[in-house]
Amino acid sequence: MLKPLFNRISGILSISKYHLAGLNCRYSHSCPALFYLRRELEDHVPGCQVEISQLTINDPYYPTLLHLARGCDALFFSVYVWNHGYVERLLHDLAQLAPDRPLILGGPQAVHLKNLPPGCTIVEGEVEGLDDSFYQDLQDGTLHSLYCAEPASFFATPYQAADFDQQLKNRYIYYESSRGCPFACSYCLSATSRGARHRDATEVATELAQILEHTPRIVKFVDRTFNDLPDRALAIWRFLARQETGTRFHFEIAPDRFTDEMLDFLETVPSGLFQFEIGIQSTNPQTLKAINRRMDVERALDNIGRLARLDTIHLHVDLILGLPHEDVESFRDSFNRVFAAGPHYIQMGLLKVLPGTPISGQAREFGLLHCAAPPYEILATRWLSHPEIRELHLLGECVESFYNTRFFSSLWRYLRTTGEEPFGFFMTLLRCCCAEDFFNLAPTHKLTAAILARMVQERPDGELLQEILCFDWLRCGYRFLPDFLHPDPSVLHRSRDTLRSCLPQNIPGVFTYQNREEFLKQGVFFPLSGTALRALGLNTEDCARYICFLPEQDSGVLQHNKIRLLTPV
Ligand code: SF4
Repeated sequence: MLKPLFNRISGILSISKYHLAGLNCRYSHSCPALFYLRRELEDHVPGCQVEISQLTINDPYYPTLLHLARGCDALFFSVYVWNHGYVERLLHDLAQLAPDRPLILGGPQAVHLKNLPPGCTIVEGEVEGLDDSFYQDLQDGTLHSLYCAEPASFFATPYQAADFDQQLKNRYIYYESSRGCPFACSYCLSATSRGARHRDATEVATELAQILEHTPRIVKFVDRTFNDLPDRALAIWRFLARQETGTRFHFEIAPDRFTDEMLDFLETVPSGLFQFEIGIQSTNPQTLKAINRRMDVERALDNIGRLARLDTIHLHVDLILGLPHEDVESFRDSFNRVFAAGPHYIQMGLLKVLPGTPISGQAREFGLLHCAAPPYEILATRWLSHPEIRELHLLGECVESFYNTRFFSSLWRYLRTTGEEPFGFFMTLLRCCCAEDFFNLAPTHKLTAAILARMVQERPDGELLQEILCFDWLRCGYRFLPDFLHPDPSVLHRSRDTLRSCLPQNIPGVFTYQNREEFLKQGVFFPLSGTALRALGLNTEDCARYICFLPEQDSGVLQHNKIRLLTPV
């Protein structure tokens, strides 16, 4: 380890070069930890050169290894549950190629890496809280195997203007306005460090204004509970809503902590500006108590329902499968209640028993059987056998392919209005999917629609649901109907011809005499029964009408095609 020492003594002869590697899940992601680390290195090792490489765990291994094996004085990795295996493999090969080059590991999973090659250094905690001795040892070539950093009091945004055209181009921008979490859910790594630190809303606004100059597509706030201080959250939201920007902002929020003022404000937010990720996890009080999660479930679901009705903010709700005291019946209840609130996306994630979390210490008490390697997914619990978890997991896959798309939203709305039990509906759907080998096929729109069309045939309301499926299909922008949805391939053409001869010459707000033909050419026309129109909430009278699907999208979150109800005369 002579080179770093030589660098420091000689100063002008050679400068220290550090390579920071992020192995992200996808190309569109970025790794903010590397940018924080770059700032600390530049502050503590004057004149050093820092290179950031953002790669993904899906990149071919050998070219990644060659890229990282290029000469530098130290290589840094940020280690997470998702990249732990890839990083570990790299470390062994990099250590073979350059045994004297320090390999420095930070991030939440660094301390849990086993089987490391000799010479690795682990940094535990927040990089801004690292003592000067770390940087001294780095330059002297005398690094120890472990450094523990204190929680930091300063964590201003680490990005430099040039990053937006280089490292961050076409990627999510992650932004941290607070660090830590006020809660301590027992399955979460945030539970191990108590308390949240918040930055002043004015400072945050100044930084965000600088970031918005680069017109990013999406800014993701990584704050664990963005709205835990309601006034501060509202001040930041108000600032963002005033900006004229095409950027979308993502927040992890606790919906039971909304004030009336916040809810009133959110009603004014333009469609598509915000998206919310909401952890409900379970609605079972015993489960919530066992995982130390304090949430007013009634209030949270009411507020989700209120926001869902606005249809201007994308709502992603998480449930966790495999929590203590959650059996099939209580999970069923959690799913039904979340479904009834009407979020756009329901994620049924498996519990991950992460090392170092409180729940990992209760594995025996709760009978948690989980995978031995990251991400340590649950296999069975005292309340759910493995076959039950398997079935619920597959049900979650159905929800992912059928519900978490924009394809069938009227069908889900219909289920909500009739009061049919959604869990039961999805269990039937799961049986159909298994019978059709769905899980080994690409879950395309056509395949999912075909499976639903076959499934609803058996139901007493099958005809009505078939109409609703046609409506949903055409709302997604198609100009044809597949034969599994409608037996008459000419229905759309015939509808247009009928309307051409029956519509008045002028319908105010829809077309005039001059553009009537253009309207008829551009629209797609489909007849719906009075029952279907009522079920879709489009009409209260019991008479059939035509729906025109216009070629432009509406302002709703799912961006369906606009529609018009037409009555021939
Ligand atoms: S799950 Fe969310 S609310 Fe709970 S401790 Fe973790 S970050 Fe905080």
